[in-house]
Amino acid sequence: MNGETVMACIDAACAALKEHTDEIASLDQQIGDGDHIFNLLRGMEALLAVRAEIAAQPLGPALEIAASKVLSTVGGSSGPLFFSLLNGMAKASANNAMDVAGFARIFAAGVEAVGQRGKTGVGSKTMMDVLIPVAQRFEQLAAENAVSRTVLDTLPRVAEENMLATRDMLATKGRASFLGERSRGHIDPGARSSQIMIASVCARLAQHNGQGA
Ligand code: ADP
Ligand code: MG
Repeated sequence: MNGETVMACIDAACAALKEHTDEIASLDQQIGDGDHIFNLLRGMEALLAVRAEIAAQPLGPALEIAASKVLSTVGGSSGPLFFSLLNGMAKASANNAMDVAGFARIFAAGVEAVGQRGKTGVGSKTMMDVLIPVAQRFEQLAAENAVSRTVLDTLPRVAEENMLATRDMLATKGRASFLGERSRGHIDPGARSSQIMIASVCARLAQHNGQGA
């Protein structure tokens, strides 16, 4: 896992988000202000513009460059939150092995950083309702010595189940919380975009593994 793999993951996430632009825009129009997908796509374009710089680095520095680009380009609540995810992962990259257990810890560190930034955990109808269960299952799979194929098959399912579960939740954080009870009945846009990115990154990495990379 290095800067080239990071860029391959960014390409996959960007393509998947573009495919779901209208859907995510509409989710954020229902319980937010409609800008979520456009914030993310702006960040993605900025990352694609520094492809060579990211691809030339090892994992930690590549994630660090990506984090700072996201912070300077993605607006809304999600900019600083995705910065925290990438920056938390970048910091943890230095102290962890490049194996399933190491990646589980690196991802969990990123998710913990989002929690500190956004001051929330599960149950408030945000991206955390996807990120936390995925990080937890990742660490559980690592503790069971699961092979990467199992991890890459399982995590997208965990992400999807938990994304769908945000539909019935009451939003207590972010813009959607202003709606109170009216926030129920709509999937959280940040949960949906996070789930889409997790699914596309896992699919891309599974393809990489299949090629023996
Ligand atoms: P804004 O709400 O400022 O317009 P975005 O539209 O970019 O920002 O992002 C909205 C998403 O951010 C929500 O769908 C939710 O998933 C996530 N979010 C909002 N507040 C928080 C928070 N405190 N912690 C984690 N995620 C949050
Ligand atoms: Mg918004």
